[in-house]
Amino acid sequence: MFYFWRRALFSPFVFFFLSLLVWATVGALPASLFFSLLLLIHLILHLHQLKALDFWLANSDERMVPDGPGMWEEVFTRLNRMVRQHRKEHEQHIAALQHMEQATSALPEGVTILDGAYHIEWCNPLAEQHFGLDCKRDIGQQITYLARQPEFVQYLTLHEFSEPLVLCGARQDELTLSIKLIPYGNNKLLLISRDITHLERIETMRRDFIANVSHELRTPLTVVNGFVETLHDMPNLENSMTRRALHLMGEQTHRMERLVDDLLTLSKLENTLNTLQEETVNVSRLLSTLHQEGQSLSAKKHTLRLELASHCALLGNTDELRSAFSNLISNAIHYTPQGGEILVSWHEQGDRPVFSVQDSGSGIAPQHIPRLTERFYRVDRSRSRETGGTGLGLAIVKHITSRHQARLEIASVEGKGSTFSIVFPVSRRLTLPAEEAITA
Ligand code: ADP
Repeated sequence: MFYFWRRALFSPFVFFFLSLLVWATVGALPASLFFSLLLLIHLILHLHQLKALDFWLANSDERMVPDGPGMWEEVFTRLNRMVRQHRKEHEQHIAALQHMEQATSALPEGVTILDGAYHIEWCNPLAEQHFGLDCKRDIGQQITYLARQPEFVQYLTLHEFSEPLVLCGARQDELTLSIKLIPYGNNKLLLISRDITHLERIETMRRDFIANVSHELRTPLTVVNGFVETLHDMPNLENSMTRRALHLMGEQTHRMERLVDDLLTLSKLENTLNTLQEETVNVSRLLSTLHQEGQSLSAKKHTLRLELASHCALLGNTDELRSAFSNLISNAIHYTPQGGEILVSWHEQGDRPVFSVQDSGSGIAPQHIPRLTERFYRVDRSRSRETGGTGLGLAIVKHITSRHQARLEIASVEGKGSTFSIVFPVSRRLTLPAEEAITA
């Protein structure tokens, strides 16, 4: 600071002493005129440097920092140092950014950065391909203006990103994308898109294969079963060994028929083209019928109760819901020993309609619960066979549940019993006219 003032005030002091000399030789008036003249020249020189600075500031990216004498030399030297430092840091930032861009471009997934209102801030080349974007042209645009598929728009609107979205036919070329949104930072979103067309094709082939094989097996099985039954019922069949063999053959072909039927049901539920045919389902009436069917399946071995605590109806598919509810009721009957109690109930949790089946049966150990809805997963294989189970019942229930945007909840204590509940969303709750409601 001292150095600055020394340089800044050096010239005025010199002018002052020169003026004092002039005063001593030619008098006060010429001396003051001389001093004023020197100050004016000094001021003009400063203004000239200020102009040079202003000129440079107007286009500092392209021009060199100006040079100047006296105190300006110090100012410009410092400015020059700052500019060089700033340019160096800027180049480092650009290099880091380019490095990041190269890394994200090499990712096998599309990456798009969105702000809180879904405006595009940046995207990598793969995301450009996935959504038909142009990173330079579309920056600042709302992504839903460019990717308009209703499922995608709904996914963003619901703001529920825990599960990825599978987007079929994302562009004309039948692209299937798996889309995940990850919130981060200050109200920003990372949109990760993955091309799963190939996986989907394999999955479709697998589904078609199972559906075709099941379909092809159905006719020969019906024929074999018909003949086995005819032979078994023949009056002149003396040999007890043959009768027993035919009985076992009949049982096994029936089991295979049930398996084929369940596989076909699963294929139908998995088919993305098979959209849910919605109607008003009078659940109370449906459960009354299933309760009667359950009682004949139980053959008075259990106490089977029905509790209709809600009279609301559902927006859903009657056949699918019948299949899911009856699967859970028949499981409760099959896995509850004689004398046990089963409670089928229809009630509400808040505004959410809930179907539940509670039994006092064998219960399920906690490690099995997360896997129960996998195909062919059984806790006890031989018990399942005894009951005539196919191992596909809960997989079917899970599919039907998710087609209705509902949640399957399983609570169980080994040796004490289990409760299987289907919790439906409020949006599926319907109110029936009073004359259609049934009370149990
Ligand atoms: P399954 O045709 O073998 O019954 P599911 O998919 O319906 O196949 O059920 C899968 C497994 O879950 C069953 O094998 C059984 O071990 C278990 N399970 C299902 N329901 C119950 C229940 N209410 N109590 C005890 N275990 C059950």
